[in-house]
Amino acid sequence: MPLDIDKIREDFPILNRTVEGNRLIYLDNAATSQTPRCVVDSICQMYYEHKANVHRGVHTLSQEATDRVEEARTKVKEFINAGSTEEIIFTRGTTEGINLVASSFGDSLCNGDEIIVTVMEHHSNIVPWQLLQRNCRVVLRVVPMNADGSLMLDAYEDLFTDNTRLVALAHVSNVLGTVNPVKEMIAIAHRHGVPVLVDGAQAVAHRRVDVVDLDADFYAFSAHKMYGPVGVGILYGKRRFLEALPPYQGGGEMIGHVSFEKTTFADLPFKFEAGTPDYVGMAAMTAAIDYITSLGLDNIAAHEQELLAAATAGLMEIPGMKIFGNAPGKEGVISFLVDGIHHYDMGMLLDKMGVAVRTGHHCAQPLMTTLGIEGTVRASFAAYNSIDEVNRFVAAVARAAAMFRK
Ligand code: PLP
Repeated sequence: MPLDIDKIREDFPILNRTVEGNRLIYLDNAATSQTPRCVVDSICQMYYEHKANVHRGVHTLSQEATDRVEEARTKVKEFINAGSTEEIIFTRGTTEGINLVASSFGDSLCNGDEIIVTVMEHHSNIVPWQLLQRNCRVVLRVVPMNADGSLMLDAYEDLFTDNTRLVALAHVSNVLGTVNPVKEMIAIAHRHGVPVLVDGAQAVAHRRVDVVDLDADFYAFSAHKMYGPVGVGILYGKRRFLEALPPYQGGGEMIGHVSFEKTTFADLPFKFEAGTPDYVGMAAMTAAIDYITSLGLDNIAAHEQELLAAATAGLMEIPGMKIFGNAPGKEGVISFLVDGIHHYDMGMLLDKMGVAVRTGHHCAQPLMTTLGIEGTVRASFAAYNSIDEVNRFVAAVARAAAMFRK
């Protein structure tokens, strides 16, 4: 069903503001999406009516806050079709989810163990594995890609050795928009007896994710990229892995019993949730997921594909345009450069015209090195972007390019 964009836009007051005298066109959704009123209302309601520390108090407010957080956990579980709420760990975001696995899973690694990543990973799915080098020599093996930005699956299969301990890969590239065939890649890894962590930061707000169907062992994502609050994320993990892993951080809430001699740990999921979490943000996940569900992920995906097609066609008309990543089925992310124009200059000029895009390496420097560039301009779409905005964005890029050609 087509989305009613005008109606959706009413849910996002920020879209009414102007930048440099122009109506804002927000196309930096891969970095963070804007937040609908219902999510902000949920945050306010928690502060105004239910604020109390969770999982600790017998008093009414604490129980209300706890109920809201646990309701959100159930909502997340259903959203990604996990088997149980015990497999849903609240984190600060994708980055913390991956660091959690790197830290806890990394405990069991030894010299010469190998982790397979892909050439298009975000730094959050590279650096945590490199930090393991502090304890032992872990080797990163990298899946290369084809010219269109799709991964070389044959090369992937060849990377497995007796020392492969984990595959860690992005579901969707934040630079190229490539949707990696994670289900197939997970099946290949499992044939080699290797578990897989999927970085779902760019996937969950744009496509249906079913962690059971994918058979993912770990799946990490961030609320702020899915119309949700900032500072909250989710790590899904299969129960048997989470049970076997040691805790990530120590502190309140994650314990069973503490003495100076010995501490036992809480059951899942609390074993991995030390300290006072952002329970206000956690509770607001319910509103964010309800919002996405009310629009319908399939409708969002279809709309974003329309925007992508229109933007791609429009940009390609501009002389000197190069788009990075055109794998079949790619998501609504366009990285581009115009010959002779630095990405930063293009970003600045677009900002002057009210268009918010990302410029730079997008936290994917190894990918930039592979592409032989320093950075790109990136436009990325969300449910509230309109075709009119895409047309104005394309016109703005053409205008900026023409200014440089003068
Ligand atoms: N992974 C990918 C593919 C991303 O695009 C991002 C953020 O842009 C991250 C991980 C990190 O997400 P966060 O900063 O929310 O932890």
